[in-house]
Amino acid sequence: MAPYTIRVFGDPVLKQRATEIDNIDGALVRLADDMLETMYDAPGLGLAAPQVGVQKRLFVYDIDDEPRALINPVITESSGEWSYLEGCLSVPNLHWEIVRPKEILITGYDLDGNEVSLEADELLARLFQHELDHLDGVLLLQHLEPDQQKEARRILRQRALGLPVDPPPSERAGAL
Ligand code: ZN
Repeated sequence: MAPYTIRVFGDPVLKQRATEIDNIDGALVRLADDMLETMYDAPGLGLAAPQVGVQKRLFVYDIDDEPRALINPVITESSGEWSYLEGCLSVPNLHWEIVRPKEILITGYDLDGNEVSLEADELLARLFQHELDHLDGVLLLQHLEPDQQKEARRILRQRALGLPVDPPPSERAGAL
């Protein structure tokens, strides 16, 4: 069983800005490990601390069988445009085509306290932008066009009431 339950849309923790981490200790390493286990169990490609109810600027990810964590991440450069069928573990089983920058440069710290600077494009760049949004209390719904947003809220409302819903037709995509 996963160490954490993933918080879903409607949980106020997902709307708050997470705070900077100023101390990397054993407890933080354990948190990252437990988040990875929760992410694999979901399954998803990335998971941010607020998604497990922890208000810290940390996310974990794995898109190439190499589990990693990034602490206090900051995107310093972004360019281009890329459209991707984006999903979120906190908005289960719904996906939307969302356009965001294609390439980014992100800096932060790893679990050993080393400063890291990573160039990323396409899926990895999307993952970083999505997880960083979580640290700022932003959900992918906020990137939708007004019409899509209305439809998304209708579906989520119906779902909360336990009513059957027809999600927008989409292929299964990676959940972030
Ligand atoms: Zn997400």
